[in-house]
Amino acid sequence: MVVAIDGPAGAGKSSVARAVANALGFTYLDSGAMYRAVGLAALERELPPSVVAPALRIELGDRVRIDGHDVTEAIRTPAAAEAASRAAADPAVRAALVVQQRQIVGAGDWVAEGRDIGTVVAPEAAVKVFLTASPEERARRRAQQIGADLQTVLAEQAIRDERDQTREHSPLEAAPDATLLDTTGLPLEQVVERIVALVRRARADAQAGG
Ligand code: C5P
Repeated sequence: MVVAIDGPAGAGKSSVARAVANALGFTYLDSGAMYRAVGLAALERELPPSVVAPALRIELGDRVRIDGHDVTEAIRTPAAAEAASRAAADPAVRAALVVQQRQIVGAGDWVAEGRDIGTVVAPEAAVKVFLTASPEERARRRAQQIGADLQTVLAEQAIRDERDQTREHSPLEAAPDATLLDTTGLPLEQVVERIVALVRRARADAQAGG
């Protein structure tokens, strides 16, 4: 079963998706880490992301590795985030990563987090959630997380949001059948509880139907 959790940067996707995966005993897929890996490798190698993406061996898990090289911290810098957002606008990069992501979630139980999981990677997902929060709240969370200045994070976030929402290929948008969840002011546990309840209901419906 696939639980798809999409939404803009800072909506709480990573914390929520990890906690939901833990609660259900599912495996967590951070698709953003793959775009970050491509962005970082393109920066370091001074090559276009579309050239780098198909040949890159990305390992995900407790640590993130590119071709065996640990980049867990390196992909979280503002420069890597910006490179990821630019790489993600390239259809060749998306095509390469979507193939890998479909393979990953094709077997077993997954909580997959990203921008296009419910719309492109796993449109058949049993549960789709679109997480949002106000821009100020999202920037506040990010700034706290990475120890950066709030106004700078807010400004950079606005640029990435705009690019994610207006790009021609797989722009950030909720799947028509996604449950919208605004996490502004909501504690993590409550968000997790609501999603776990959606999964339980989907399972019960599947059992009743089959
Ligand atoms: O979620 P995270 O901030 O780590 O994602 C980094 C970048 O990767 C985002 O700005 C977005 O442009 C891109 N991304 C994407 N599709 C996904 C996951 C991430 O376009 N499924």
